Amino acid sequence: MQTEFLIVGQGISGTWLSYYLQKEKRSFLIIDNDQPNSASRVAAGIINPVTGRRIVKTWMIDELLSFLVPAYKELGNELGINAIEQKKLVDFHPTPQMKMAFDERVNEKADFLFHPKDQERYQETFNYDFGFGEVDPCYVVNLKEILPAWRKKLLAYDQLLEEDFELNELRHTDTGIIYKNIKAEKIIFCDGIQSSQNSFFKNLPFALNKGEAILIESPNIPYGNIFKKGMMLASIEKDIYWIGSNYLWEFMDDQPTGQFRKQTELLLKTWLKVPFKIIDHKASVRPANIERRPFVGSHPGQKNIGILNGMGTKGCSLAPFFAKQLADHLVSGHEILGEADIKRFSKILTR
Ligand SMILES: Cc1cc2nc3c(=O)[nH]c(=O)nc-3n(C[C@H](O)[C@H](O)[C@H](O)COP(=O)(O)OP(=O)(O)OC[C@H]3O[C@@H](n4cnc5c(N)ncnc54)[C@H](O)[C@@H]3O)c2cc1C
Repeated sequence: MQTEFLIVGQGISGTWLSYYLQKEKRSFLIIDNDQPNSASRVAAGIINPVTGRRIVKTWMIDELLSFLVPAYKELGNELGINAIEQKKLVDFHPTPQMKMAFDERVNEKADFLFHPKDQERYQETFNYDFGFGEVDPCYVVNLKEILPAWRKKLLAYDQLLEEDFELNELRHTDTGIIYKNIKAEKIIFCDGIQSSQNSFFKNLPFALNKGEAILIESPNIPYGNIFKKGMMLASIEKDIYWIGSNYLWEFMDDQPTGQFRKQTELLLKTWLKVPFKIIDHKASVRPANIERRPFVGSHPGQKNIGILNGMGTKGCSLAPFFAKQLADHLVSGHEILGEADIKRFSKILTR
């Protein structure tokens, strides 16, 4: 079998890369093992434009939002689904200090931040003592539908193999790569945390971190917003809410822990005034890195081997933009943004 690009992984990164290669009318084949607890299958899909104690804008957010909102809408139209929803984030201040920090930023007229007058609005549903601010707009990406819908389409066109990719079967030459019976010009790794063990990319400064989420059923939470008090609570379908997450840099495995369940249940019991039922508990490991910048581009020593990875906590906002950059680089030789291009690690990658 002959193709231009062999892609490993169909999480949010592989989905977007294949989408843009398809738009360029390039041939590709994806190998994906449909791991149920891959990061993209556990994530809520929230895009929050602000971060940290100072509540500052996240890296490149204005540019990313103006790209990703139309991109998700276009993908959704092609798949016949609603791929992205605009929401407000209702941020219940957990302490008076956090309230002051938020209000200070509102007074500075910081983008995205608002202090609504009607502070009693959620008293029937939530316990909160220090009021709330709003982050507007935020978005929720419908990962739950995007990934299977794109997969179905790929399968229908024989563009996806559902199996494990085995690195020891990969051969590469100056003109391309050979993997089992597949010949391709290039191979691109979009395989999340697996790349941290890949002989070509293991020297990249991955800093994997584990996160967990709980799904609850509750018919009485007002639909339409994301709520935050220490953790995020986001509706993912009617009456079903995702709550998470934690960030563990040291962990033994990628499985849900009793400690997170206990801590989250306690939070829900003290925060929610309405009944809820826990229906699922998931865990995954984020392909994060020390710099908090994605890993994008061709290997400096092996031009037929590339990567789209290192999305950390922000795959939903970073993947579409950088997949487009990588597709333009692969197809037309365009430059990739310096802060994301793995050229910046040339020394350690060619050691
Ligand atoms: C609890 C939690 C909550 C999160 N919440 C958010 C959020 O709200 N918003 C946000 O933007 N991000 C969030 N993230 C981060 C987000 O999940 C990641 O940034 C993103 O999913 C990474 O996508 P990816 O496609 O690069 O990797 P992955 O999603 O890990 O995809 C890799 C793919 O490769 C496949 N694969 C791996 N190895 C092989 C192999 N050997 N053979 C075949 N296939 C293979 C896997 O099956 C998978 O499909 C969250 C993460 C966690 C853990």
